[in-house]
Amino acid sequence: MGDRGGVVVFGAGGRAMPISLWRCWTRSRRRRGIGRGCRWSLPAVRAGWSRGRKAEFGHVGSGNEPRMASLATPPLRTGLLVIQPLRRRHCAECCGGPLSLLVLEDGAPRCLDCADLGHLVFLPRGDTALTRRSREESALSAVVVRFNRRRGRYERQGVLVEEAGLARAEARCLVDAEVRRRRRVRDAARRAAQDMRFADAFAAEIRRLFPGCPADRARAIAEHASVRGSGRVGRSAAGRALSEGAVISAVVASVRHVDTRYDQLLMSGVARHEARRRISAGVETVLRRWRAEGAEAEVG
Ligand SMILES: [Zn+2]
Repeated sequence: MGDRGGVVVFGAGGRAMPISLWRCWTRSRRRRGIGRGCRWSLPAVRAGWSRGRKAEFGHVGSGNEPRMASLATPPLRTGLLVIQPLRRRHCAECCGGPLSLLVLEDGAPRCLDCADLGHLVFLPRGDTALTRRSREESALSAVVVRFNRRRGRYERQGVLVEEAGLARAEARCLVDAEVRRRRRVRDAARRAAQDMRFADAFAAEIRRLFPGCPADRARAIAEHASVRGSGRVGRSAAGRALSEGAVISAVVASVRHVDTRYDQLLMSGVARHEARRRISAGVETVLRRWRAEGAEAEVG
């Protein structure tokens, strides 16, 4: 992990910074021209934090316990919380920094190494399954948060987990992805078979009602009407039940578009109702012929 830095570990029993160390750190910060040094570990000073400091750590380091009331999701029971600081922070123990990640320990920042979290790797948020499993697979893990100034609260950025745990979690997710892929293939095949059977039944019903309708035309109408997810008549409840009305309206729709000038009328700007009125006689003619041919065949 490249951006390994200071870490702040929460919890009662956090170490207090020796005054000598504090002076060393303050001097080092002054040399680097960083503020007036760290005073977080001095309780008397802590009460008088500037507004700017409160804006970042106000919820977190103000006591022995973390108060993360404004964390988007509640802090985890493990209690290990790592912060991406908005300002330049240095480790209160080894003076390293500026830190990209830190742990607040009794109000003072520590780098990840000083907080014994340096061996963890950062997993950005986004993949919930991988995040959950990585934490399950890691004996030690921490949640990484960053203060959102605009929203005034800490927000999760990801987790720190053990590299081996992350690898195991990735393997588990890969297996799952393969299982899901195979299930999708099976489901698609089953749906295709269902669609095929449905279209067959639909076409048979068309031929029963309109024996004069050519078989391939009946098949085309049935397939068009029963395209999955189309919302067409074949997918409606009536269509699935193969009601006579649903079958007839599918046939009428097809005749309208294929055997009449309906589409040209619409394209030339004729209003839909007017276009339907003009072609209704033509549609009736075709339907009568398709019915009659069957009737003649039955008679013959
Ligand atoms: Zn350190």
